[in-house]
Amino acid sequence: MQQALNHQYRRLRLILGDQLNLEHSWFGEPDASVLIVVAELKQEASYVRHHVQKVCAFFAVMEQFAQALQQQGHHVLYQTLDDTAEYDSLETFLTALCMRFEVEYFDYLQPDEYRVSKQLRELALPAEVQKQSVDSEHFLLPLTEIDRHFTTGKPARMETFYRSMRRRLNLLMDDDEPEGGRWNFDQENRKKLSPAAVAELPKPLLFSNDVSDILQRLKRHQIACIGREQNVLPWPVNREQADALLQFFCQVCLSNFGTYQDAMTANSESDWSLYHSRLSFALNAKILHPLSVVNAAIAAYRNDPEVNLAQVEGFVRQIIGWREFIRGIYWSNMPEYAVHNALSATRQLPEYFWTGKTRMRCLEKAITNSLDHSYAHHIQRLMVTGNFCLLAGIDPAAVDDWYLGIYLDALQWVELPNTRGMALYADGGLVGSKPYAAGGNYIKKMGDYCESCHYSVKQRTGEGACPLNSLYWHFMAQHKDRFQSNHRMRMLYGTWNKMGDETQRAVLDQAEHYLKTIGQL
Ligand code: FAD
Ligand code: SF4
Repeated sequence: MQQALNHQYRRLRLILGDQLNLEHSWFGEPDASVLIVVAELKQEASYVRHHVQKVCAFFAVMEQFAQALQQQGHHVLYQTLDDTAEYDSLETFLTALCMRFEVEYFDYLQPDEYRVSKQLRELALPAEVQKQSVDSEHFLLPLTEIDRHFTTGKPARMETFYRSMRRRLNLLMDDDEPEGGRWNFDQENRKKLSPAAVAELPKPLLFSNDVSDILQRLKRHQIACIGREQNVLPWPVNREQADALLQFFCQVCLSNFGTYQDAMTANSESDWSLYHSRLSFALNAKILHPLSVVNAAIAAYRNDPEVNLAQVEGFVRQIIGWREFIRGIYWSNMPEYAVHNALSATRQLPEYFWTGKTRMRCLEKAITNSLDHSYAHHIQRLMVTGNFCLLAGIDPAAVDDWYLGIYLDALQWVELPNTRGMALYADGGLVGSKPYAAGGNYIKKMGDYCESCHYSVKQRTGEGACPLNSLYWHFMAQHKDRFQSNHRMRMLYGTWNKMGDETQRAVLDQAEHYLKTIGQL
């Protein structure tokens, strides 16, 4: 697909793998003095051990993006790993390009990750080259306005932020009031799937993108990856496929999105996808704009009587609320956020996070889904793997690396506050006012994993007791000084205090036994 590049370009513009926004104002009229560079870089493929489908998906979507730009008449230089392997850093690569094309200007889009942003800001190019960055024109809250909503080191609350975004964007509003009289329909949502509902789960829309060439490149350049390798990638790698997935979501999944948002099952081929949109990769690579996604969902609600307000509000909240909120937390707290460890957690991540070989059915399902698909739905990430790491006191750095590597949609700006903040409470409460901690009962209430588990969810202690039950109370006892005055946790400490010394000791002994043998659970 390489284009003849015979021009003296004045301007070199770098597009990163998560900046593939064809609607960016840079791509209006083609300009023959501008060379757009899209490059597969070893540093990006190996800054953490990624899932192989994740690297394939990013490289595939970058190639398709470069082709789309070329078809529109833009001059594009696509560099594969083979082309960039000789450069030991992004700086040497970009310096070589600036010199080769004798450009006067180097432009880049503001990166979303602190690591890359710093690298580009500090980039030392030849003195005659002027450097500038511009907005990626993707997010709904401009970067420059984040500090109006978020203060470094201060807790922020999603619900307040979400309401301001609903008003700002005028979505699902009746003048200044929320449509339907309420901001939040959580009470109607979040049901368990009955066996009949499990049988009706839709088959996910999957694509068949050939990535065998990319896989060979990864092997040639010894990029170490994890997860199931496939020559055919089921994820969307261009705008058309992303639009098709969005339409599929609106037509097939949206009518049940909120209802089963927190449900879990092990009893269906679609147990990994349920009614979730699986749009996070397309959104995070920026082939889809968040406003086009919420507008499509709202249009489905207006036109399809099967889609009610509770479902669409639940979905809109994820995109204009949670997604933008998480980004605000990230940018207002970096770089300190990346080392927060408020609960002083230091334990190693057990080996089964890389194999799925554990007798805990809930973890086994969440981990194997992740290894197979480079995807797990939100409640698996938060209340299964995340909850386990929280209760077991796993080192947040190890948890971050696992989440950042394994998920197709994982980029630090969105992974970090979700993992350190929402799942691990390692930020001391900047994201959530209390830890999302749960024992086995929650997993049982929301799904059917416990029915086929080696452990008994009914037991707190004794042979075969569900590990989460004792670990839950152990966690609460360990952090009593920090949490007992939290008014949302008072009842829980009341229950713990009423248990009596003997029961408490038995529960703590059980948990300590599990923590000592954590690798064998
Ligand atoms: P759906 O359930 O269909 O939700 C729709 C969209 O809402 C998602 O595509 C996503 O863009 C947005 N969204 C929902 N919740 C969140 C949230 N908490 N933060 C940001 N966006 C949200 N999301 C990522 O995109 N990348 C990550 O690396 C990531 N890591 C996570 C780690 C943990 C520990 C947790 C608890 C959550 C994480 N999330 C992450 C958020 C969320 O789990 C995923 O966005 C979601 O599972 C993606 O699947 P989906 O597209 O089917 O989402
Ligand atoms: Fe998970 Fe416990 Fe249920 Fe097993 S019994 S699936 S470990 S919650």
